[in-house]
Amino acid sequence: MIAPQALEALVGTLRGRGYRVVGPLVDQGAIVYGDLQSAEDLPKGWTDVQEAATYRLERREDEARFGYAAGPHSWKQFLFPPRIRLWRATREAEGGFAVEESEHDEAPLALIGVRACELHAIAIQDRVFLGGAYAERDYAARREGAFVVAVNCFEPGGTCFCVSMDTGPKATEGYDLALTEILDGTHRFLVEVGSKQGAEVLGELPSQSAEPADLEAAQAAIDGAAERMGRTLDTGGIRDLLASTLEHPRWDDVASRCLTCGNCTMVCPTCFCSTVEDVNDLGGEAAEQHRTWDSCFSVDHAHIHGGSIRPSGRSRYRQWLTHKFGTWQDQFGTSGCVGCGRCITWCPVGIDVTEELATLRKPEEEDDGDD
Ligand code: SF4
Ligand code: SF4
Repeated sequence: MIAPQALEALVGTLRGRGYRVVGPLVDQGAIVYGDLQSAEDLPKGWTDVQEAATYRLERREDEARFGYAAGPHSWKQFLFPPRIRLWRATREAEGGFAVEESEHDEAPLALIGVRACELHAIAIQDRVFLGGAYAERDYAARREGAFVVAVNCFEPGGTCFCVSMDTGPKATEGYDLALTEILDGTHRFLVEVGSKQGAEVLGELPSQSAEPADLEAAQAAIDGAAERMGRTLDTGGIRDLLASTLEHPRWDDVASRCLTCGNCTMVCPTCFCSTVEDVNDLGGEAAEQHRTWDSCFSVDHAHIHGGSIRPSGRSRYRQWLTHKFGTWQDQFGTSGCVGCGRCITWCPVGIDVTEELATLRKPEEEDDGDD
C-alpha cells in the first residue's frame, strides 16, 4: 500500500531513473495526457461527465487523483506520435544527396495512469506495429523502454463499455505497476507489481503491506466500476453480423449524420492509419519525408489509381466500423475496439458505435432511423 503523498516519490523516482514521465493533467478544459513535473500536476479532485458528443469537467467531493474516465487523449500520441520525420536528404557540394534516417533518441517513457482498456489498446498496437515480419522501427524504440503504471478504474464514464469488450475495468497484464485508488475513509493506493522493474521502483517508495481489508476495498472499487458501465455492447457473432449486413439501410442513415471529420479515428487508441508527406525546401537543397496520422474518413486515404475507392461518407463509415469490429479479427486476431467510449464522446454529432451495432442486429424493417 502507498499513501497519496507517495505519488510524489513515484514521479520523482521515475524522473530520477531518466524517464520522461507523462500522465493525466487538467488542460484545455479536459483531462489530457502530458508531461508531469510533479504529482501535484495530477487532476486532484476532478472528474468528468461524458455522454455522446458531451464532455464536461466537474469537481469531486474528494481528492481522488484518478477519479475520471478516459479523456480525449490516448497513449498512442506518445508511442505512435501524430507526426515524425522519417528521413532527411541534403544536397552535397560535389553533387548527389546525403540521406539521413531519423533515429529515435528521446528519453524512455513512463506512462502513469494507464487504464485497463488502454493496456489492451497498447497490446493491439503492439500486434499491428511489432507483429509479423516487419516491425515499425520508431514504435519499437518508443515501446521497448516504456515503464507502465496502470490504474484500475473506479469511476467509469457514461460512454464506457470495457466490460462488454472484456478489456476492463481491472488491469490484468502489460504493466510494471498497477494502482487501485481506495477512497473509503483513508485515502490510499493498493499497488500490484507486474515486472522486475516495477518491483525495483516500488522498493524506492514509502510503502506498507496490504491487509485483507485493503484487498477487499480495492476489489469493491473495481466491482463497482464494472456495475456502472455507461454502455453495453452485444459482441456475439459480431464479425459475421457485419459481414452479412453490408447493404443494411442503417449505413445510409448513419452516413446522413456523419460529417466524415475523422474525430473518432483520431481519439481511438487503436486506430493506426498514417500517410507520408514529402517536404522540399524552396531552394532545392533539402527534402524530408514525414509520417503523419491519417484516417479512413479522408477521401485521399483510399485513393488508388483512378480515384478513391471509398468516395462516399457511407462507404467510409462502413469501412471504419466493419474493420474495427469485424475484419480486424481476421487481420490481427482480436477486435479493434477496447470499449473506451472515446469515439462516442468526441463525435461532434454523437454517433454511438454501440447504438449503430445494435441497430444492425435488428431486422431491417425495425430500423426506423430515429434511435
Ligand atoms: S472504436 Fe471507439 S470505443 Fe472502441 S476503442 Fe476506438 S474509440 Fe474506443
Ligand atoms: S462518426 Fe462522428 S467523429 Fe467519426 S467521422 Fe463521423 S461525424 Fe466524425
